[in-house]
Amino acid sequence: MSAPHKPRKRFGQNFLVDQQIIGQIVSAIGPGQEDNLIEIGPGMAAITEHLVKHCPSMTLLELDRDLIDYLQQKFQDYPALTIRSGDALQTDFAQFYDGRKLRLVGNLPYNISTPLLFHLLNVRERIKDMHFMLQREVVDRLGAIPGDKSYGRLSVMIQYHCRVMPLIPVPPTSFRPAPKVQSAVVRLTPHIELPYPADDHNLLRQVVNLSFQQRRKTLKNCLNHFAEYLPDLGDNIDLTRRPEQLTVKEFVDLSNSINRSISIAK
Ligand code: SAH
Repeated sequence: MSAPHKPRKRFGQNFLVDQQIIGQIVSAIGPGQEDNLIEIGPGMAAITEHLVKHCPSMTLLELDRDLIDYLQQKFQDYPALTIRSGDALQTDFAQFYDGRKLRLVGNLPYNISTPLLFHLLNVRERIKDMHFMLQREVVDRLGAIPGDKSYGRLSVMIQYHCRVMPLIPVPPTSFRPAPKVQSAVVRLTPHIELPYPADDHNLLRQVVNLSFQQRRKTLKNCLNHFAEYLPDLGDNIDLTRRPEQLTVKEFVDLSNSINRSISIAK
């Protein structure tokens, strides 16, 4: 084996060392032999070495080339395992779909977690579920409901696509080196059918972004950009409400109403 790996800050390396937490993560995932299981950022294989026992044909995607050598040596007795070197943000995950939906797993570098979630939502239809270790604060935002202080753009856009289930709180002492923040494992399960489909996804994104730029103002103020269409929205949309009070369904209704007004005006 090569010399011990020194954790690299720029790759967001905080390695899990807490066997009890690792055991809880593996049972939450419940990996099976036939799963199309992909781990993002396996690192020193703290979680991987348990996952492969259940699913020897899993795929590993790791950015740090030094760790690729380590992983290849460690798993040389697993011929069905695939090890890929690459950046998850630049990876087209649709390529891993082979008729079996993807099961994604990762103790993610916290600096890439939000962009990676949005990157993965682009291939939502091909994903069965995702189990990610994230900053606790991000997990709070993912699962927040109207009225919670962490409710915002991330909550609405993720819940539009996925069911969110926070699973395991994880303290800094479970990692080496210990991160400065609390962490948590969350399960995201993409909806098979969107419960509230938007007629125009880009418009929904724009409405949600504009709304949460000024979350304490009224919708009417936030959506000034669409001022000419707002009078046509009808009585069922109350524009004196504040964005932080709206459910995902209400954001979709609002976006769809604006979409209709725009097409009538055309
Ligand atoms: N899963 C391991 C390591 C977690 S640390 C454990 O729990 O102990 C985060 C891991 O993600 C590191 O191995 C790091 O090199 C890797 N990584 C960082 N950025 C990445 C990216 N953009 N794509 C893929 N892997 C990345």
